[in-house]
Amino acid sequence: MDLGIAGKWALVCGASKGLGFGCAEALVREGVHVLIVARGNEALEAAVEKLLADPLRPKDTAVEHIAVDITTVEGREAVFAKRSDFDIVVTNAGGPPPGDFRQWDREAWIKAVDANMLTPIELIKATVDAMAARGFGRIINITSSAVKAPIDILGLSNGARSGLTGFVAGVARTSKLASANVTINNLLPGAFDTDRLKGTMAGAAQKTGKPIEELMDARRKTIPAMRFGTPGEFGAACAFLCSQHAGYITGQNILTDGGAYPGTY
Ligand code: NAD
Repeated sequence: MDLGIAGKWALVCGASKGLGFGCAEALVREGVHVLIVARGNEALEAAVEKLLADPLRPKDTAVEHIAVDITTVEGREAVFAKRSDFDIVVTNAGGPPPGDFRQWDREAWIKAVDANMLTPIELIKATVDAMAARGFGRIINITSSAVKAPIDILGLSNGARSGLTGFVAGVARTSKLASANVTINNLLPGAFDTDRLKGTMAGAAQKTGKPIEELMDARRKTIPAMRFGTPGEFGAACAFLCSQHAGYITGQNILTDGGAYPGTY
C-alpha cells in the first residue's frame, strides 16, 4: 500500500533506538524526510547512519538529527530553530522510573508530568495550527498500554500519561483540527523488545535473584502472541496512522500489545 506521505517532513522524538527508531525507519521507508531527536549524539549518529544505509529508503529521503533533551524548553527551541514546518510529529521520551508512590516527592511527579504529558502537549501546540493551515497533519504520541491497564509500580507513568490521554481526547476532536485533516492519536505499546524492556527485566532479575532469561520467558508467556513486539511492527502501525489513508482516525488510543490487554473495549 502506498501510504501517500512521501516528501512530507516528520519530527520523531526519542528516535536513536527502540520504538522511536522503529517509527523513524518506517517513515523513511515511505519517503518521509525525518528530523530525529535523542539526547546522546553518538547513538543518534549511529541511528542516522543506519537509516541512510537502509536499502528500502527511497533515495533523496533526508535524515537529519539533533541531540537535545526534548523535555526541556531549550531542547524544543533548538528543534524548532532547525526546522518548524513538520507534517508529522511523533512524540516520545523515556518513561518514568518504577517504584512505590510513597517514595515519590513533588519533584519526581513534576519530572514525569513534564516528560510524558507537558512535552507532547508543547509539541502539539507548536505544530498543529500550521498543519491545519496546510491541510495535513499527523501527531502520534507514544504512550503505554498502562494507560488502559495500569501497572502498580509504574504509577508515575500511569498518572502522567493519563493526563496526556485526556488532553488529546479533547483537542483531537476540535473541528478546527479534525476538519483540516489534522489527526492526533496515541499509540500504546505493550511489551516490546527494546533496551527499556531489557532494563526493566534486568532490574527485576537483580531484585529476585532469578536469571533474566527466565523472567523474559515468563513475561512472554503472559502475552497471547507468546512473544514481544518488535520496533519494526510498532513503526509500521505508526506509519499507517501517519498515512493519507488514516485521515478519519483521530483521538484514538491504539494498543499494539500482542493481545495482552484483557478487556473487550
Ligand atoms: P528505549 O529506551 O529503547 O528508547 C528511548 C529513546 O528515547 C532513546 O532513543 C533515548 O535516547 C530517547 N530519549 C529518552 N529520553 C529522552 C529525552 N528526554 N529527550 C530526547 N530523547 C530521549 O525505550 P522504548 O522501549 O523505545 O520506549 C519508548 C517509550 O515507550 C517510553 O516512554 C517507554 O516508557 C514507552 N513504553 C515502552 C514499552 C516497551 O515495552 N518497550 C512499553 C510501554 C511503554
